[in-house]
Amino acid sequence: MKIQFKTVKIKTAKPFRIARDATVEKEIIILQIDEGLGEAAAYTTYGETLQGNIDFLNEKIRPILENHDPFEINAIHDEMERISPHFNSIKAAVDMAIYDLIGKTLGIPTYKFLGITPTPVRTSYTIGIDEIEIMQKDVELHSDFEVYKIKVGIGNEMEVIKAIREVTDKPLRLDANEGWTAKEAVRKINQILERFDNIEFIEQPVPRWDIRGLKYVKENVPIPVIADESFHKLEDFQKIADAVDGVNIKLAKSGGITEALRIIHAARALGLKVMLGCMVETSLAISAAAQIAPLVDYADLDGNLLLESDPFKGVKTEKGRLYLNELPGLGVTA
Ligand code: MG
Repeated sequence: MKIQFKTVKIKTAKPFRIARDATVEKEIIILQIDEGLGEAAAYTTYGETLQGNIDFLNEKIRPILENHDPFEINAIHDEMERISPHFNSIKAAVDMAIYDLIGKTLGIPTYKFLGITPTPVRTSYTIGIDEIEIMQKDVELHSDFEVYKIKVGIGNEMEVIKAIREVTDKPLRLDANEGWTAKEAVRKINQILERFDNIEFIEQPVPRWDIRGLKYVKENVPIPVIADESFHKLEDFQKIADAVDGVNIKLAKSGGITEALRIIHAARALGLKVMLGCMVETSLAISAAAQIAPLVDYADLDGNLLLESDPFKGVKTEKGRLYLNELPGLGVTA
């Protein structure tokens, strides 16, 4: 397999703020394995860096790819895992590129290769933390979406939800990005629910290490609690399966589609909900995730829509739904 890559700078149309930090610009890796394309947006929250990803690719992943046929995707994934549990965004790029390559080799879309029906899936549109009037405007500017994800966790959530409810009565998903203590989360969520209807779930109310806190929240609020920062891979179910109602899969955390599929099956066996999320990333990575979106309960695949300009075209988002195309592989063109 011929392995090439380049780095590309991507910029958000406006600063994208969450409880923990803000994204304006970042440099990603666009990976090409033969005809297959993949994307790695280094997950800085977990200590990943662009250079670390490049070194891991060159030193550790290249020899694995040289020893395998691309159709051996499970073996490739497992060997990358065995070398390190980290560097998941570059592993995801490799995994995406291989699925893209397999699809292009067979002349079929990846979802078809995986036996997935390409039903249009509803995605949320994410409203980042900002001045309240700007958050309201953002909802109004994206009035064709059927559900919004509201970033909370900095203390003014009642005021934020009240303002959002002035401009829409559509379902809202809340994401606190580790911003609360467990007690605070229970109090705030129940206060919000007393005043406002149609709140779908709360994502990562407490710090990632606070599994007991997640469980406390789950037991004391009537809406589903979804783990994001506390959950990366299959093995994490061992510590959080009974502490949450569901998990948020992101390809950049799981290391790609291969692991994401395993997580979906395990979650079903455990009776848990599945959310599929993303990073600020291009239509390449979003199209990769969209291939498996018909399998999940909640899709949150809007990272490409936050970009000032997107170097790729792929899955189409129309009226808040994701439409997969019939091009081979991930269905992405430059
Ligand atoms: Mg989240």
